[in-house]
Amino acid sequence: MDRAEILSWLKEEDPQRLQTLYMWADQLRRRMVGDQVHLRGLVEISNRCARRCAYCGLQAGNAALVRYRMQPAEIVECARAAATLGYGTVVLQAGEDYGIGGEWLAAVVREIKAETRLAVTLSMGERSDADLALWRKAGADRYLLRFETSDAALFDLIHPPLASGPARSRIAILRTLRELGYETGSGVMIGIPGQSWDSLARDIELFGELDLDMIGVGPYIAHPATPLGSGELNLALAADRQVPNTEEIVYKVVALTRLTCPEANIPSTTALATLNLASGRELGLARGANVVMPNLTPAAYRRHYEIYPNKACIRETPEDCSGCLRGRIRSIGRYVGTGPGGRARSAVPA
Ligand code: SAH
Repeated sequence: MDRAEILSWLKEEDPQRLQTLYMWADQLRRRMVGDQVHLRGLVEISNRCARRCAYCGLQAGNAALVRYRMQPAEIVECARAAATLGYGTVVLQAGEDYGIGGEWLAAVVREIKAETRLAVTLSMGERSDADLALWRKAGADRYLLRFETSDAALFDLIHPPLASGPARSRIAILRTLRELGYETGSGVMIGIPGQSWDSLARDIELFGELDLDMIGVGPYIAHPATPLGSGELNLALAADRQVPNTEEIVYKVVALTRLTCPEANIPSTTALATLNLASGRELGLARGANVVMPNLTPAAYRRHYEIYPNKACIRETPEDCSGCLRGRIRSIGRYVGTGPGGRARSAVPA
């Protein structure tokens, strides 16, 4: 699918044609990655952040946020819970927290790998090549770093560099991650003020060019304690050029992502569930996705990991999330995957 075709699908409004798109994506998902849905247990290990991203509630300027960093023993305990709940992967995510040193996290990863058979995914932001190499050596299997938007000018506006150094390209970091042997994940937010239809089509095309192993997409949700959410930074385009952050666009992007990257692991995201708690996750899974990420963060911390407001499932216990998601997966005729559920490369290019 070329960029023009992606663009025309993004703008498609005919419900019947969209049902056809969703059916194609679902059929391809089934053929390429099967009916199993992989569960990745998410542990939000720190909400401390050195960055001032204009979209994210964790940004350093948000003085109202209660900050935390979990202790290594608490993180390992969450990983044990992931194994007990039958998950194949634990995802450790945080703000860009330089209080988490390279060796600090390497020790946590080593302990999880020694005690469990879990795949370990990290999502720690734009860390140094040395840290990324150290964590890989400690046993980390995968790394998530969304490029957020392929529009470089927009990205620069919403993602100021650290005061201490020049901006680093997330695309270049993704290449480094691949060279280090990580399974590499990226993705974008949908409906960021300033995001044009053309740039969103380019995002999806870029997913294919980068040959990503994992691709997460979700709606942008305004956070009032951020420059974009408060209106301090107003980037919205004229209505005919601006991508809206609606549920329907997210489904289109999930489906088009599957069609562009047939083998990728694609989550049906919590941000999507936040737009439609009743059935957003199921609809994502029915339109190209094959992964969900139940939350394992202890309740006391979970409510402070507020990247956007009114996040779905903020009060549930890890056991609640596991039971709920398993039920949802069965209700749509799918089953829970076992094992690490890494990217399965087909011998024949699709
Ligand atoms: N510090 C890490 C992890 C960030 S949180 C990093 O920067 O990679 C993970 C993802 O949450 C981000 O990549 C972004 O795509 C998403 N996110 C942040 N703020 C958001 C918002 N207001 N609405 C929707 N998604 C958001």
